[in-house]
Formats: sequence, structure tokens, C-alpha cells
Amino acid sequence: MAISPDLLEILACPACKAKVELKEDGSGLKCVNCKRVYPIRDDIPVMLIDEATIEDESSAGEPARGS
Ligand SMILES: [Zn+2]
Repeated sequence: MAISPDLLEILACPACKAKVELKEDGSGLKCVNCKRVYPIRDDIPVMLIDEATIEDESSAGEPARGS
């Protein structure tokens, strides 16, 4: 387990300030509100909106991209 619960506590989604959760496979941190998934690189969470992907459970199609 690379990301500690203590670290998760202080992290928040930069887009909407909601809390984030570790994905089940440990590949990223998912915002509980806007569903953005922030990647984890070298055990460091990348909390950047530009780096996030949006994971929409209702449609498994192409990821939404801004213009
Ligand atoms: Zn969010």
C-alpha cells in the first residue's frame, strides 16, 4: 500500500474540493464527487486537473475531453 490513509485524509480534489478515494487497483485516486481519477506516479498522487481522467460508471465510452 503506497498511499497511506493519513495522506488520503489531507488530499482533496482540486476541481471541486471533495475527498478522494484510492481506486481498488491502486492505480489512482478517485474523487467521490466529480469522478475525476488522479494518477499515482512513483507513489506520488498527481493532484492536477489537467492530469485527471473522468471515470463515468454510467457510460463506458470515450473519455470526455474539453474542447
Ligand atoms: Zn472532484
